[in-house]
Amino acid sequence: MKRLLPLLLSCALLAGCGAGQASPSAGTDADTQYFFAMDTIMSITAYDGDTSAALVAAQQEVNRLEALWSRTRPESDVSRLNDHAGDGTAVPIQPETARLLETAAAAAQESGLAFDPVLAPVMDAWGFGLTESETTAVHRVPSQEELSALLPLTRDLPQVTAGEDGSYTAALPLTGQAADLGGIAKGASAAYVVDALTAHGVENAILSLGGNITALGHRPDGQPFRVLVTDPLASEDGYLCTIALEGGLTCSTSGGYERYFESDGVTYHHIIDPSTGYPAQSGLLSVTTVAADPALADAWSTALFVLGPDRALELWRSGEGTVAGMELILVTQGQQVYVTQGLEEGLQFHGEEAGYTYEIVRR
Ligand code: AMP
Ligand code: MG
Repeated sequence: MKRLLPLLLSCALLAGCGAGQASPSAGTDADTQYFFAMDTIMSITAYDGDTSAALVAAQQEVNRLEALWSRTRPESDVSRLNDHAGDGTAVPIQPETARLLETAAAAAQESGLAFDPVLAPVMDAWGFGLTESETTAVHRVPSQEELSALLPLTRDLPQVTAGEDGSYTAALPLTGQAADLGGIAKGASAAYVVDALTAHGVENAILSLGGNITALGHRPDGQPFRVLVTDPLASEDGYLCTIALEGGLTCSTSGGYERYFESDGVTYHHIIDPSTGYPAQSGLLSVTTVAADPALADAWSTALFVLGPDRALELWRSGEGTVAGMELILVTQGQQVYVTQGLEEGLQFHGEEAGYTYEIVRR
């Protein structure tokens, strides 16, 4: 969030935490909607179709999904699921929530639980939980005993059951468990926003949903959109590189710099290693994924941040599995930037002066 507002104010263009859109919209019939949802600023620019109706419908979709997936609204599917953790109730949920829980579970299983959608008790212990606003959050460093007591409440994924009539229920097996879908929900929303836009004739648009940028179609000049990837070490606006994005792809960035606090001179960030309960120390400053499925782009940017650069590149190089179908930008603490080969075309690197070097990773 810290770099979002200045960028919005200075260029009046879309931006996300971790990435911003650098495409000119002047001279087109583009219509942009900015709004606050899911604890972040979102923006959508539509370049064609019935732009004003499309943007209203798109924002309504995000609001509808937030009402289902919020942890702070007592009536949301996620709150009701959490309230009944361990009591054996099969909680009725909407199909969108069932789909989200299933995508989250798939990412959890494939990542060896580096992505864990039931980390809420641990997130709350750090004060990264229910109150997401940086101005009101009460951050603290939990004791090892406290974390050890909470870790058994993680890892057991929600059980989703489909009824014969197309309805769904979900249940959390253990008392005290709670789902936190903050690592995937914004990305997952992008697919619904795209559907709402296309239903109103929009073929070209760019959406920025809190660290997740989706490029529908291309720029009005026929070129790909240009997306800025944040320099995770910059204290002011600083960009590491620009990448080209088009054709429905989503770029998702996760970084420890996005939300953190300091205590006794130590910095603690909001991406937790589920195997320890502590902020992940994998040698990475940020991970950017580019993928066709926005929910998976979001989940895996978080998961790969936990797994670290060696494992991330191993998964990508293997040629099999979800990560192999994505493109990656991995920024290490040693200021080495690994960019996978599919992003080479359209890459502009801006990080040399700040001390970064980059390498194109090939299979
Ligand atoms: P993102 O910015 O997409 O990387 O998501 C970060 C958010 O995901 C945090 O604020 C938490 O709500 C949640 N989170 C943190 N660590 C994990 C993890 N290991 N697996 C799943 N979600 C996580
Ligand atoms: Mg994520």
